[in-house]
Amino acid sequence: MQRLSSAGAIGPGLFGAALVPTMGALHQGHASLIRRALGECPRVVVSIFVNPLQFGPGEDLSRYPRAVEEDLALCQALGVEAVFTPSPEEFYPPGFATRVVPEGCALPLEGERRPGHFSGVATVLVRLFGMLQPARAYFGEKDFQQLQVVRQLVRDLNLPVTVVGCPIVRDQGGLALSSRNRYLSPEQRERARVLYQALQAAQQAFSAGERLASALRARMLEVLTIPEAQVDYAVVVDTELREVPQATRGTHLLVAATLFGIRLIDHLELL
Ligand code: AMP
Repeated sequence: MQRLSSAGAIGPGLFGAALVPTMGALHQGHASLIRRALGECPRVVVSIFVNPLQFGPGEDLSRYPRAVEEDLALCQALGVEAVFTPSPEEFYPPGFATRVVPEGCALPLEGERRPGHFSGVATVLVRLFGMLQPARAYFGEKDFQQLQVVRQLVRDLNLPVTVVGCPIVRDQGGLALSSRNRYLSPEQRERARVLYQALQAAQQAFSAGERLASALRARMLEVLTIPEAQVDYAVVVDTELREVPQATRGTHLLVAATLFGIRLIDHLELL
């Protein structure tokens, strides 16, 4: 496995591979993206880069979990061809002065709460796509709005890459795996399962015939209302991230809440 720490080290031999962009502190959610990529493409490149542009002031950039050695071992064990681990200074050299600013589905929810976040995501991805020229790129459905922003970006800018969305990997209790779960103790993780429980409660109501988005939302909020959780949003949206009055199969439920000082998000597509 090659480890590339600067853009200059990327040879054209890597072009056309599958790319799995990550911020590291890899877990089984990331591993599932890598496995999926390996199943569809002989060569897989994983990028590990805690992208400063996508963190707002006061967010957790400086303490975001970093575990490069473990990450490299996991990538090696999975059969990854190359891991790209640039430093921020290498990735954004002096004079770097371009921002990609997605609108549309990037505006509500995370876009509203985290100004500049999706611009940071879009900018890093356009630069990564330019450097690595992947044929395919893999993203998790946990970050559903991000996935849709990436699809919109690729469509709007005609980028020659196929975006692949991958299912959420959860722990036994249903908590969506996230690098930020490392901030939580086992007891706190147990309480954090409330996000998935809220999504499940709304799915159950939908399965029992409820179609009103306001009722599904109320159901999610009922479950999320515990002293440990500060709910940010619980919404019923379409694939453009617009709130809908009525839910159908394929409608998306998104929740965000802060528990024990850690902001967590989750997503479920109604079946
Ligand atoms: P991150 O390192 O958190 O930026 O995530 C890198 C990629 O892994 C993103 O496309 C995420 O959506 C995806 N991902 C993170 N957690 C999970 C999970 N539990 N299941 C599936 N994909 C995930």
